[in-house]
Amino acid sequence: MDEGTNVSGRLGGNSLTLEHDVSLECYSGILSMLLNGAPLGEILHALVLKIEAQRIGTRASVLLLSDDGKRLLFGAAPHLPDNYNQVIHGVEIGPEVGSCGTAAYTGERVIVEDIAKHPFWEKYKTIPLSAGLKSCWSEPIKDSHGKVLGTFAMYYDEIKSPTSQDLILIAEAARLASLAIERSRSMEFQRLAVKIFDRLPLALVITNTSNNVLYANRAFSQIVQPQLAVSPEFHPALFLSPSEPHEVDILFQHLAEGKMWQGELIGLRGNGETFHLDLTVTVFREPHSTQNGFAWLFSDISERKKAAQLIKYQANNDSLTGLANRNALFRQIQELITADCLTPGFSFMLMDLDNFKQVNDTYGHDKGDMLLVQVVEQIKICLNDSIVFSRLGGDEFALLLPGVVTQKELSQLAETINKQVYRRYELSKDKGVYSSVSIGIARFPEDALDLEQLLNCADQAMYISKANGRNRYHFFTEQMQQTAERIANLHTLLKQALDQNAFELYFQPIVNASTGLIVRAEVLLRWQHEGQFIPPDEFIPIAENSGLIVDIGRNVRRSVMETILEMQAHGWSISLALNVSTFEFWSHELQDEFCDSFADIIDDLGRVDFPYELITLEITESLLMKQHVHLIKVLNELRGRGVKIALDDFGTGYSSLSYLANFPIDQIKIDKSFIDRLEEGERHEALVEAIVRLSHALNLSVTAEGVENESQLRFVVANHIQEIQGYLFYKPMTKAAFFELLAKQA
Ligand code: C2E
Ligand code: CA
Ligand code: CA
Repeated sequence: MDEGTNVSGRLGGNSLTLEHDVSLECYSGILSMLLNGAPLGEILHALVLKIEAQRIGTRASVLLLSDDGKRLLFGAAPHLPDNYNQVIHGVEIGPEVGSCGTAAYTGERVIVEDIAKHPFWEKYKTIPLSAGLKSCWSEPIKDSHGKVLGTFAMYYDEIKSPTSQDLILIAEAARLASLAIERSRSMEFQRLAVKIFDRLPLALVITNTSNNVLYANRAFSQIVQPQLAVSPEFHPALFLSPSEPHEVDILFQHLAEGKMWQGELIGLRGNGETFHLDLTVTVFREPHSTQNGFAWLFSDISERKKAAQLIKYQANNDSLTGLANRNALFRQIQELITADCLTPGFSFMLMDLDNFKQVNDTYGHDKGDMLLVQVVEQIKICLNDSIVFSRLGGDEFALLLPGVVTQKELSQLAETINKQVYRRYELSKDKGVYSSVSIGIARFPEDALDLEQLLNCADQAMYISKANGRNRYHFFTEQMQQTAERIANLHTLLKQALDQNAFELYFQPIVNASTGLIVRAEVLLRWQHEGQFIPPDEFIPIAENSGLIVDIGRNVRRSVMETILEMQAHGWSISLALNVSTFEFWSHELQDEFCDSFADIIDDLGRVDFPYELITLEITESLLMKQHVHLIKVLNELRGRGVKIALDDFGTGYSSLSYLANFPIDQIKIDKSFIDRLEEGERHEALVEAIVRLSHALNLSVTAEGVENESQLRFVVANHIQEIQGYLFYKPMTKAAFFELLAKQA
């Protein structure tokens, strides 16, 4: 609001009706006080004195209406008695409360010529009368909207009615008082506004078109010019120079069109630093002005931005290596897949460290992490900027190669990575490990059409790299897919077969070389699906990997024990050897379950005892690799009951000879591959001789597997191997055929 305009308007509107000589002097005095910002009390005091000076025998007073509009408060009354002022201060206004209380209440002028007789004064008259005041005229003071602000009153020491001049004077006095009150209140408001602006945590700078600063609050100086004083000018273009020029252009265009603008930009501080700001610019124009003004209100959101960026970074990056994480990578792949028609395809490389678990287990996770970080650095050396390098988790990494990359280029890259990664990594002063990665490569859209499929393909290819000796790469092929599908298919069928008890046991007799008599038989599992035998070498690994082997094994044990009892009933004391998978001993719980299952089956069969000595368990070297105390306990427990333990496929596993001495074993079965190679020369013969001698020294009996011809037989017999299993004597056969054979032998 412009005070100057109001003052001149009022003056112009009323001056004609005034007695010029006195009231102009009165006006100019009051106005100069107003313009100089004198306190309200002083102005009213001066006003009262000036009015009193114009009318002899007059005493004047100004009362102010309280904020709630219910009471009159002391304003100025220098010549009224103090005790009277005190009584009036705080008096509640009403329809018959003296002259002023009534005028304030009704908003109308109240003329009381004789206080002593007037009903309005009934309750209040004693004090004014005793002070010699006989009449009182009161004019309500109203603001520009007609709202009552207080009263202006004139008292006389005689009973008196006003002349028209008196009425003009009193009205004018009330108007001047109104001006003073309004002005004072608006100044108060202005002071309050400035105080608020100054304490605002937002920067506020008000400028005109010439970039002159009309106002700048404290926060503005603090944010924009931490070390400098507020300059008399604010140059928005310079201030926003670190922002995207295009965005700044839009801002200025808005302002030029008189529209407000709001958004986030980057600003320049007085010390050259940049910062993020959340800005609102409002355009305004004052009524008397031809220029626009601009209010720039902004906050420094750098910290918030930083926090948001950190959160975003953490959501998309791996904390250890800083690489893109699984989510971020998958999102990018998904985008490429979705934008299929726009992109020419991409390639995906899955990489897995070859010995990470070992490093972690041996040296701890800290060292494991160190290894990962160092390997990442090596891989980075091989990559260009267009490749997205990501850590999927653990020791699994992936590369996303957008655009067409030829098979040759992919091979070269994979080869380079294999070479670059394969090296010694120092984990501490005296600890170093060699590490390498196995890589699987799949391509979109050639190999897969969605993310899951793609991962699957790369995974299969990587699996082949691992299986083929690690530190190498493989492309995904159709063949892998077929294998994977067949495995998945067999898995389903295997489950059904188990539910339907569709397995059958075959028996391969083991004979004593010198007598030719059947001493034992190996029980071999057979599965016929749709009239075709599926070889155990194919379905057993699937059963193992899916855990089905545990149930299958239990069924086999049950059938074997039933068969032993049947044979016993026929009077044939022939022992049966059954194969036990390492997976059946995977955990302590499984080992205990395995051990307990025999007693359960015996119970089920309605027996109290069982000829345990007729059971041989064929275990493999891989099981013994674990060297678990618990496993030894379980095997000993079974042996204690009479069960025999045979070490199957001897010589094909890890062949650490120490376990031969440490483990509770009764027999070893020399693997068919050794027998096959006997014909290849003396060195192979020497090997078998050594195995036999070693076994006998350890008091273990020896069985030769896969004896197919006479010369093999001659050699093993010459080397004191008594028990022979092989096609030369018998192939695996049905139970019926086996029983027929035993019946003949008996
Ligand atoms: P394995 O334990 O080494 O079983 C011996 C394998 O050699 C059997 O193959 C047998 O038929 C074969 N064989 C025996 N003598 C000769 C021979 O003179 N010449 C040739 N060429 N082969 C001979 P099969 O029955 O195909 O079993 C393969 C493998 O499947 C077994 O190897 C065993 O590891 C696994 N398996 C078989 N049945 C079971 C079972 O019930 N449970 C478990 N866990 N594994 C089983
Ligand atoms: Ca076997
Ligand atoms: Ca074997």
